Amino acid sequence: MTAPIIRTLPELRNLTGQWQRAGERIGVVPTMGALHDGHLSLVAAAKERCERVIVTIFVNPKQFNNPDDLKNYPRTEEADARKLERFDVDALWVPDGDQMYPEHFSTNVSVTGLTDVMEGAKRPGHFDGVATVVTKLFTQTQATDAFFGEKDYQQFLVVRRMALDLDLPITVHPCPTIRDIDGLALSSRNLLLSDRARTTAPRLFEEMEAIAEGVARGEAFETLRAAAEKRLLAAGYTEVEYLSIHAQDDLAPLDAPTRPARLFAAAWLAGVRLIDNIAI
Ligand code: AMP
Repeated sequence: MTAPIIRTLPELRNLTGQWQRAGERIGVVPTMGALHDGHLSLVAAAKERCERVIVTIFVNPKQFNNPDDLKNYPRTEEADARKLERFDVDALWVPDGDQMYPEHFSTNVSVTGLTDVMEGAKRPGHFDGVATVVTKLFTQTQATDAFFGEKDYQQFLVVRRMALDLDLPITVHPCPTIRDIDGLALSSRNLLLSDRARTTAPRLFEEMEAIAEGVARGEAFETLRAAAEKRLLAAGYTEVEYLSIHAQDDLAPLDAPTRPARLFAAAWLAGVRLIDNIAI
């Protein structure tokens, strides 16, 4: 069934108010659209847990630190609505920029600590943009449950921290990363890769797996990392921004997975910035 596309807050509140009064669990899946099977796996998880599911589509200008990235970000609303038909979601929340950030909007939600490393360090302002918009999406939808992908693991931790710290009455659920058959993590930005770059792209995940295997054999992370970076650059990647191990709870940088940890990467291929992470 086609879900109603809601574009104004009064309409949204009208719907969610009815659901709340009926005591229904409301799941929200925040996205920036250009939906793929990764997003759809979050929708499936939300459908399993909640009587009502809202998918949000909003390309949030506040979380882009690069104007070209914002301009080039894929926008495919009609195709997105069609992809959601088989999930029978209850509403698509597609606010426009003025609805989200009216004139005189002046509030910023900022999470410290977890945002010091990786995406927080490389993309100034990014997580303030994420935390601010997600706080708004949570209060706008009055959701009881939210579903985020481990593909953006740091984002999941930041959002969960924010919801806890602000006493928002919502549970933030992590969902596993969905990959193409060649291992490349699904991402809306993959649409921006040329055919040639698309064949090179899975090298990132391959090298990450090679590092994880090496570490499991007891080899030194730094040696494995340097060799992987060299091979990625030889394969056509133009820059490896980071390839590092962090504790999975507080993202402290580690030389080796001496406690539960993940391996994180960000790298540039043909003008597109790809990120990924795996347990190590
Ligand atoms: P985005 O539209 O890229 O902002 O992503 C919206 C949500 O989908 C975020 O919670 C992402 O972590 C999640 N997501 C994106 N790609 C994947 C993937 N390959 N597997 C699982 N979740 C994903």
